[in-house]
Amino acid sequence: MSEPPVCESCGTQNVRIRWGSACFSPTDPDNPDVQSGVMILGNMIDRDRNPPDFVCIRCEPRWLDVHELVVRDCQLQTAKENAIEAQDFDKARQIRDLQYDFRPNLNALVDDLLAG
Ligand SMILES: [Zn+2]
Repeated sequence: MSEPPVCESCGTQNVRIRWGSACFSPTDPDNPDVQSGVMILGNMIDRDRNPPDFVCIRCEPRWLDVHELVVRDCQLQTAKENAIEAQDFDKARQIRDLQYDFRPNLNALVDDLLAG
């Protein structure tokens, strides 16, 4: 993997963004990079849209909002799977509804950022 480039606007080092992280878990091999902040998570996205591999979170802090929403989505996903496993389908349904509630916001935020 190449080193993240430096932002042309502010001169700080960009962070890598990993797209399509719906099932990101603490055991993921990328987790140390996420914990140390050199990598953030992006949503599920059509690769044809050519999303960037690197972003500047100093110039555009909303990328951190994207990351936090994706992390939240992953936590909900895990909670939902645990509820299904425990056969607590009411709880699973509630969690799914929460996911459906905020995913459009997440997707809209990414659309806005990609539109520049
Ligand atoms: Zn910058």
